[in-house]
Amino acid sequence: MKDLSELLVAVYGTDFGAHTPTAISSFTDMTRQAATYRDRRVLLAGDAAHVHPPIGGQGLNLGVQDAVNLGWKLAQEVKEVSPARLLDSYHAERHPVAARVMRTTMAQIALRRLDERTKAIGDILTGFLAMDEPRKQLAAEMTGLSVHYDLGVGHPQLGRRMPDLDLVTATGSVRLYTLLHDARPVFLNFGGADGIDVAPWADRVKVIDACYAGVWELPAIGTVAAPTAILIRPDGYVAWVGEKDQVGLAAALEAWFGSPVL
Ligand SMILES: Cc1cc2nc3c(=O)[nH]c(=O)nc-3n(C[C@H](O)[C@H](O)[C@H](O)COP(=O)(O)OP(=O)(O)OC[C@H]3O[C@@H](n4cnc5c(N)ncnc54)[C@H](O)[C@@H]3O)c2cc1C
Repeated sequence: MKDLSELLVAVYGTDFGAHTPTAISSFTDMTRQAATYRDRRVLLAGDAAHVHPPIGGQGLNLGVQDAVNLGWKLAQEVKEVSPARLLDSYHAERHPVAARVMRTTMAQIALRRLDERTKAIGDILTGFLAMDEPRKQLAAEMTGLSVHYDLGVGHPQLGRRMPDLDLVTATGSVRLYTLLHDARPVFLNFGGADGIDVAPWADRVKVIDACYAGVWELPAIGTVAAPTAILIRPDGYVAWVGEKDQVGLAAALEAWFGSPVL
């Protein structure tokens, strides 16, 4: 507290009478990321993998999302059902996400400078953020809702976080995220995908017939076409989207959840 008081006096000429803090934390604008999140049996997550200034409050979310991305992959590895190279997808998916957050926090730190030129850039950006599209994009980035894992081309939902929809199933209404509580893959059939056979993965994948009456909307993207079936990974990201057929479904099931039981 003494150090803090002295610093406040040095900068503001007074310590504002501050006393008996419940917590003190010091931080800098240090911005660093591990070159790789995996080296054989060593995996890095959270602040061990990336550090940046707390501006924007994104570090905890980023670290938790690392852990959620990694947890189910590790579980499959331990159970020896993991497809080859599944653990490598952890670095491939999460490293670019933290790199992007670091880019944003570096920009935010730079904008805190008080010189006239930086203020001019800030004014221009403020103008952009008065517009809907840039504001939605930035909000999606700051909240982590813009994360898009590169799972190939296809429906916009592919590789993106599944929205928490209100579903109607044979056993009643249910919020989609409650179906993910078991941390198992979920295959949702919205009725347009007759004859889909997930049985060879039935020991791993929960299959649910469901209806969703609302509009299908994604953060920063807006309304998209409603899929007829969808395969959701245990971390809530979409591994496959069906649009009236099952092209690529078996390959996606095998790539993420291992070989079928025949
Ligand atoms: C001032 C400040 C404000 C912040 N505000 C926000 C915010 O609003 N929102 C947000 O999302 N994030 C915020 N963050 C960032 C957030 O706190 C971190 O990103 C997050 O706590 C990282 O969690 P972690 O578990 O990866 O690491 P840590 O929280 O650092 O946990 C690591 C743990 O490992 C322990 N440890 C270290 N070495 C060893 C060892 N050898 N053996 C055993 N244990 C060890 C440490 O004691 C510590 O308990 C803020 C950070 C700061 C500094």
